[in-house]
Amino acid sequence: MNHQELLSSLISYAIDKHLIKTEEISTRLGFLCDLFQYEPFDVINSVKRPYHEWMTDCLDLAYNRGILAWNTIDERDAFEAKIMDLVMPSPSEVKERFHHLYQQSPWDATDYLYQLSKDVNYIKSRRLKENIEWIYESPYGKLEMTINLAKPEKDPRDIANAILEKKESTEGRPLCVICKENEQNYWNARMNLRIVPITLSDELWHFQYSPYLYYNEHAIILHDIHKPMHISHKTFDFLFDFINQFPTYFIGSNADLPIVGGSILSHEHFQAGRYHFPIEYAKPMRSFTHVPGLVIEHLNWPMTTIRFKSKDQSLVKLYGCHLYDLWKHYNNPMLSIVSSTGNTPHNTITPIARLTEDGYELDIILRNNRTSEAYPFGIFHPHEDVHHIKKENIGLIEAMGLAILPGRLKSELDLIEKVLKNGLPSDPALDKHSHWMAYLQKLPKLDSKVLFSEVGKKFERVLLDSGVFKLDYEGIRAVHQIIMEL
Ligand SMILES: [Zn+2]
Repeated sequence: MNHQELLSSLISYAIDKHLIKTEEISTRLGFLCDLFQYEPFDVINSVKRPYHEWMTDCLDLAYNRGILAWNTIDERDAFEAKIMDLVMPSPSEVKERFHHLYQQSPWDATDYLYQLSKDVNYIKSRRLKENIEWIYESPYGKLEMTINLAKPEKDPRDIANAILEKKESTEGRPLCVICKENEQNYWNARMNLRIVPITLSDELWHFQYSPYLYYNEHAIILHDIHKPMHISHKTFDFLFDFINQFPTYFIGSNADLPIVGGSILSHEHFQAGRYHFPIEYAKPMRSFTHVPGLVIEHLNWPMTTIRFKSKDQSLVKLYGCHLYDLWKHYNNPMLSIVSSTGNTPHNTITPIARLTEDGYELDIILRNNRTSEAYPFGIFHPHEDVHHIKKENIGLIEAMGLAILPGRLKSELDLIEKVLKNGLPSDPALDKHSHWMAYLQKLPKLDSKVLFSEVGKKFERVLLDSGVFKLDYEGIRAVHQIIMEL
């Protein structure tokens, strides 16, 4: 395809997907010609090809013309976003359309933003298909397993480039990867990002989708101001206000302390989406009904979770706050639970809210981030013997029963199977798995199905390690005492 065919393909794609109107064709084509440094021309008919095919050609063209500085994944992603920004609605048009559609129904509005985010390849649907997914049947119900291949490993040239750029200037860069200023920003490939403002409990927040889409309609709800994650009574107001406005979405917050929190503690945000996580199906070990109109359940879940259910949201919120206040200062040295060291707090929560046919549901997962000599990475964090599978923080998504395992595991698991089945000498890349491999070798049968199931078992252990109260007599009794005190 020559440049006229390529750029014409872009325009016809944008028309097909209703990203631009027919009367805008020549203006938009003019923008593209400017970007690619070509003289203006009229749109020509071109052969229809899949999006990624002609986009690859467009990016190669940009590189060959010297417009793209580096031919790396990061640079190509950023430039692709810049191209798509020229053939899609502006941020203000998207905000207006979202709010107009919201008047019809919340899902018309979210469907619109979600489809748009996919059509402009801000959500990288094709890469997401490469992820490996399976189900592991645990004693606590189904756990969902994924090896994430959609988030590309960093190219060393991009890392070097980032260091170089950081030294030179940070001008025009948002303070973090989720600040609202990322919208239509070249840095971090966000030129094609569109976000919409929403009001939660009288404060300004913004709604956007995650480009990595760990689950269906994975949304990020970020505060207007770049300020640290902070859980308080107000958090419950925000969460419930959100599910009242978007009743088909769940919403949850990561904990606000290192080790037990998510990867971004510097900017207050929540994660939401149209998805039912394994935790939602967890069965109660015991239900308590000592508060009229409210059911409190201790869930049979590897991470300590207390669920509040009621038709009355104020009752759920009130008792959620009671539990949070009690937990913040709760100590049980026999079970290694110490709420603070000096002025440094250790106890916090991971809260999740949803609306069901029976009313409001609030899950509170109790967290503690203390470390000790025996557990320098965290007492209630995956212990070192499972780090070969997962050592990162166990944030909201994993606490709800969806494992996001690093991409390296794909090749490592293939290699493990090959080595063990054929009695080959091990590979240095598998050193971290040596203990596990000795165990696997003793299994009566080993194929990829068994291997995946064994990885599932490890994830179950990851969650059990992260649970503050273990599911033994002492642990269960202590949780029930807490509930009775509420
Ligand atoms: Zn920020």
